[in-house]
Amino acid sequence: MTLETHRPFIEDLYRELHANPELSNREHRTAARMAELLRERGFEVHEQVGKATGVVGILRSGEGPTVLLRADMDALPVTEAERVPYRSSVTDELDGQRTGVMHACAHDTHMASLQGALAILAEQRDWSGTIVAVFQPAEEVMQGAAGMQDALRELLPGGIDVALGQHLMPGAAGEVQTAAGPIMAASDHFIVTVRGRGGHGSQPEKTIDPIVLAASMVVRLQTIVSREVAPAERAVLTIGTFHAGVKQNIIPDSARFEINIRTFEPRVRERMIAAIERIVQGECQAAGAPPATIETGDLAPLTVNDADAAATVGAAFDAAFGAAHVPSPQYLGSEDFSYLPAVWDAPYVFWMYGGFDPELVAQARARGTFDVDVPSNHAPDFIPVLQPTLDTATTAMVAAARAFLA
Ligand SMILES: [Zn+2]
Ligand SMILES: [Zn+2]
Repeated sequence: MTLETHRPFIEDLYRELHANPELSNREHRTAARMAELLRERGFEVHEQVGKATGVVGILRSGEGPTVLLRADMDALPVTEAERVPYRSSVTDELDGQRTGVMHACAHDTHMASLQGALAILAEQRDWSGTIVAVFQPAEEVMQGAAGMQDALRELLPGGIDVALGQHLMPGAAGEVQTAAGPIMAASDHFIVTVRGRGGHGSQPEKTIDPIVLAASMVVRLQTIVSREVAPAERAVLTIGTFHAGVKQNIIPDSARFEINIRTFEPRVRERMIAAIERIVQGECQAAGAPPATIETGDLAPLTVNDADAAATVGAAFDAAFGAAHVPSPQYLGSEDFSYLPAVWDAPYVFWMYGGFDPELVAQARARGTFDVDVPSNHAPDFIPVLQPTLDTATTAMVAAARAFLA
């Protein structure tokens, strides 16, 4: 049995998952479907693994290495653009608000291609060892992998030899990218609550306006990357939410915003965190406001591919993809994937594959309009072309897994 035989199953599964996305920690239907398919392939299936909807399937076939293959299951609170017949029209409630739900980070392609790879590997059986398939919840909120750690330690006391995972990125469909060393950034999330003194919009002298104060913080925080981080370093600071006030003639008494930073170097990360604290509290002082509170939110670790394991995967991809296997850049996106192998301190490789019309990508690159013409992860039009995207992701998983299995 080959990829051709399984292609209709993989494509149908992808469309089914795409049309039925579920938010982080709510992947109940998706998890049940993943478990059902694993059972059909003869895997030993464990459900509700960890703190949420985690699914683990184990397939043993004689003596040999244990290879963990991972796909994440959650979707995002994004309303999908009208583009494809299998578009999601799902909505859900999040923080008291109705929102559209969409697989806008392509986790549906991760699941469909992993199920495709498992179908192929379960039939081939010319390998020996153990395959551990992990369908992980809540990647987008950086809780899913950490939430599965204790349960995985219990389930697999003998450990694993390697963990493998992949992600779709805005590149050409058919292309796969690998690299040794740091491949995805560390991510930190801070929630800043600024307290002023509320009052009438016509009497600012009686108030401390938290909107002006927080707005000034937002502007000044931009100088961390531009003025405090060396130009040769890579770092990002984004303020993704800003909430204050309910009426135009009331000065509110507080404002709240959230900061996300991405870094590759621990010392850059520490310097940025210190600068956030300094700027936020310095602005409070300048405004005569009490100190702000800065809470820590979701964290994601640095993703660092093991050099030997990455070389093994790289050689397998050279054989499978030829010139379509290219060196990976470092991505400022983040992943909680590495928390899984961290359970046993095992090596891991995480790689990327493209998902957009190769011609469109090539033209956009030639024109220098790649950032405008090719949507980014989490965008409402982040809808990959079906093929060769799914073929590539499935082939990559099979090739990488086989490179380690005896
Ligand atoms: Zn994402
Ligand atoms: Zn993702």
